[in-house]
Amino acid sequence: GREWQLLSRPVGWPKSEDFALVETEVPAPGPGRVLVRNTYLSVDPYMRGRMSAAKSYVAPYELGKAMQGGAVGEVVASEAEGIAVGDHVLHFFGWREYAVVAAENAVKVDPDAAPLPAYLGVLGMTGLTAYAGLLRTAAFKEGDSVFVSGAAGAVGSQVGQIAKLKGASRVVGSAGSDEKVKLLVEEYGFDAAFNYRNGPVSEQLRAAAPDGIDVYFDNVGGDHLEAAIGSLDRGGRIAICGAISVYNNTEPAPGPKNLARLIQTRGRIEGFLVNDHYDLQPQFVQEVGAWVRSGELKYRETVVEGIENNLEAFLGVLRGDNTGKMIVRL
Ligand code: NDP
Repeated sequence: GREWQLLSRPVGWPKSEDFALVETEVPAPGPGRVLVRNTYLSVDPYMRGRMSAAKSYVAPYELGKAMQGGAVGEVVASEAEGIAVGDHVLHFFGWREYAVVAAENAVKVDPDAAPLPAYLGVLGMTGLTAYAGLLRTAAFKEGDSVFVSGAAGAVGSQVGQIAKLKGASRVVGSAGSDEKVKLLVEEYGFDAAFNYRNGPVSEQLRAAAPDGIDVYFDNVGGDHLEAAIGSLDRGGRIAICGAISVYNNTEPAPGPKNLARLIQTRGRIEGFLVNDHYDLQPQFVQEVGAWVRSGELKYRETVVEGIENNLEAFLGVLRGDNTGKMIVRL
C-alpha cells in the first residue's frame, strides 16, 4: 500500500518536495488489531501545524514516517474481538491506503446510518467543533447576532446554520469567493454574507451587521478578528477556533490593535480545542443528525479522488478550493 510521508518541514507554503508518496508492505494485523483498507481520508488545516516542529497540542509529524489524520475504512483482516472483516471503522491513520489499527483506536461506524464521509465532516470532528465552539465556548443563546468566518468551510457552514436553527437574530458569514457568498445566503440561510477579498473586512462586517454582533466564531484570525472586536456588542463573546490566515506565515502575525475595546464591551475571547468536548458527542450526533436527516441543516463536501492527490487536496484546503469538508476518496 502507498502512504504519504513528510520528508522535510515546510517553511511558508508547503512544497511538493517536502513530501513523498511511498510504497510500503501491508503487514498482518497482529493480536488485538485490525487491518483497514482506507476508503475516505480527511485533510484538515491543523495538519499544517503538525508539519512544523513547534510544540503544540499534538506532536509534530515525524520525518520519514507516514503522516496521520482522520480516516474511514473497511476492515479486511481482524485479530480483534468485536470487530469483524467488512466492518467500517473511523480511526486516525489517514494519509495511507492501508492501516493497522489497535481495536481501542478504531470506532465502528454504520454506513446505513449516514454516508461514510459524513463521519469525517458533518457528523464528525469538524461538526463537533462547530457545535461545541458555538454552544459552549461562545455560549450562544437565542437572539444573539452571530458572525462566522471561513463560513463556506466544514466548520463555518455548520456554525452559521446551527446558530440559525437555534434562534439567532442575525447570522453573517464571510468567505473567499462570490460563489461561496451566494451559497451561504441562498442555500444555508445566512442573513448576510460577504467576500473578504472584495474590500476591508471591518467595513464589510459593519455593513452586514449594522447593529453589531454578540458572537464571533473565528476560523481565520488576522483582520477578521480585529474587525469582529470592532463590531462586538456589550457582553460579546469570541470563540477562537482557528487562524488559517496565518498558518503559513514565517513570522508571528501582529495581534489585534483594538483589544482595549473589550473593556468597554466587557467582551471575552476564548480559545478551544474540540478534543476537550467529546462529552458533547452523543448530544451533537443526536441533534445535528436529526437536522441533517430532515434537511434543515445542509452540507457540501469537496471530494478529491485517489491517494496520489491527497497532498493536493490538503493544499487545496489552505487555498480555499473546498466548499464544505474536503475529503479524499480512495
Ligand atoms: P475549511 O473547510 O473551513 O477549509 C479552510 C478554509 O479556509 C478554506 O476553504 C478557505 O476558504 C479558508 N481560508 C484559507 N485561507 C484563508 C485566509 N487567508 N483568510 C480567510 N480564509 C481563508 O476548514 P475546517 O472547517 O476544517 O477548519 C476551519 C478552521 O477551524 C481552521 O482554522 C481550523 O484550523 C480550525 N479548526 C479548529 C479546531 C479546534 O479544535 N479548535 C478543530 C477543527 C478545525 P475561503 O475560500 O473562504 O478563503
